[in-house]
Amino acid sequence: MEGNRCHVVVVGGGIAGLAAAWYLRQGGEGVRVTVLDGARRIGGKLFASEVAGVQVDAGAEAMLARRPEGKALAEAVGLGGELRDPGTTRASILSRGALRAMPAGQVMGVPSDLAALARSGVLSPVGLARVPMDRILPATLVTTDVSVAAYVRARMGEEVVERLVEPMLGGVYAGRAERLSLEATMPAVAAAARSERSLLTAAREIATAPKQKGPIFTTLRGGMGSLPAAVAEASGAEIRTGVTVRELRRTEGGWRLVTGPVPEPEVIEADAVIVAVPAPAASRLLAAEVPGAAAELSRIEYASMAVVTLAYSRDAFPEPPTGSGYLVPPVERRAVKAATFSSVKWPHLAEADPGLVVLRCSIGRLGEEALLQRDDAELVALAVKEMAEVAGARGLPRDSRVTRWGGSLPQYDVGHLDRVARVRAAVAPHPGLAVCGAAYDGLGVPACVATARTAAARILDHLDPAGQWHRKADSLTKG
Ligand SMILES: Cc1cc2nc3c(=O)[nH]c(=O)nc-3n(C[C@H](O)[C@H](O)[C@H](O)COP(=O)(O)OP(=O)(O)OC[C@H]3O[C@@H](n4cnc5c(N)ncnc54)[C@H](O)[C@@H]3O)c2cc1C
Repeated sequence: MEGNRCHVVVVGGGIAGLAAAWYLRQGGEGVRVTVLDGARRIGGKLFASEVAGVQVDAGAEAMLARRPEGKALAEAVGLGGELRDPGTTRASILSRGALRAMPAGQVMGVPSDLAALARSGVLSPVGLARVPMDRILPATLVTTDVSVAAYVRARMGEEVVERLVEPMLGGVYAGRAERLSLEATMPAVAAAARSERSLLTAAREIATAPKQKGPIFTTLRGGMGSLPAAVAEASGAEIRTGVTVRELRRTEGGWRLVTGPVPEPEVIEADAVIVAVPAPAASRLLAAEVPGAAAELSRIEYASMAVVTLAYSRDAFPEPPTGSGYLVPPVERRAVKAATFSSVKWPHLAEADPGLVVLRCSIGRLGEEALLQRDDAELVALAVKEMAEVAGARGLPRDSRVTRWGGSLPQYDVGHLDRVARVRAAVAPHPGLAVCGAAYDGLGVPACVATARTAAARILDHLDPAGQWHRKADSLTKG
């Protein structure tokens, strides 16, 4: 406490930490916020840089528009005019040797429309014939959390898992259906599975439920990578980069953080702390004071991946790519697991340089770490070969960029929701401590922002129990 202002330290300057700082600021002048990030820049997985003179995202490239938190934050920090809709969301699956349109009505790969599935050609005739058995099979009892693969396979057969669900989960989590939790990664399907015998019917109900109007995704003209700086500035927080927090201890009146090299430690005192770092780092920080949470967090595994961005001259394509890109099932055994035709998906990129075609290849799923041991030139060569074969690119790109995201995507394995509940239960008795970020309730940007909002509200409630100066934040948390 300095004068009548409380000091809150946010550890981690990714979008979750920065959003937490912004929400704390909405609490009014009673709080001073410091954000500490170990990296040389803020933003974590949100980062954009130039490729062939055009600003292109190297990490997250979009956010769900139908979940309000991300878009609302962008608008609140002055980026409303920068939001851009996709030019197309028509995606394909590279299955059985060819690009095939994603079947209409699928829900995270689970088909809801047999005719659309047949038309897509994603499944073999045998695989396709197995799907409607779902309608006559006895109910698959799902009383506890199960893997996505176990449930979908039981209802619709192996090929739906291998060729539809795996590529979707690979795209979002870089994870595998055999391990990922049905409850955590497909909550709507899991809920329907508890009451509906047929998965086809359940998926159809989800797919045809009334939805918000407008595109599913949105991005920013300067890339999602432009969001962190805007949030940081609007938060009014002191932002310190290159500051890795090594230790977190409870004190009589609050918390003590230790940073800096071991021989010359810097000690920072705080009234409250928000831990907004990935699970392994959060586990280390919480080990001394909240060992129960630390143990649970240490069990969350992370997948690694690399993003190879290629910028070609337009004349490298006899026929320019169409659609937003494609996903690749692991059974196809290709190095590239997904490709985004960025200039098609995001028309503002094409407007920035009409002579350029920007494509983005994602490489690496859980268990494919060996692939990522190749050097940058080899990864570019893999991506160039893939774009020649699949998108028809001729020759070499004008520019390329390799971005490695080691240990970047938390795996929501079976039991994840219970694990997160145990983490929160262990943190709850510690006043002035909260956690947020991608390890908890969803790794998309809006989900991370939502965890930040909850964490900030918890801290404001602790610092100002009578609600004298944080009424505004309180109303925000209900928004
Ligand atoms: C390649 C890729 C593509 C993605 N695409 C999308 C997408 O299109 N749409 C979408 O919604 N989501 C996407 N995601 C997921 C999303 O970007 C992330 O889940 C989200 O940005 C994570 O935010 P965070 O703040 O929780 O964590 P992070 O971004 O990981 O930030 C954590 C920060 O903590 C810092 N830190 C760690 N340890 C310490 C310490 N001890 N002391 C101080 N600082 C520390 C790190 O330096 C980092 O800056 C993607 C992720 C990746 C990797």
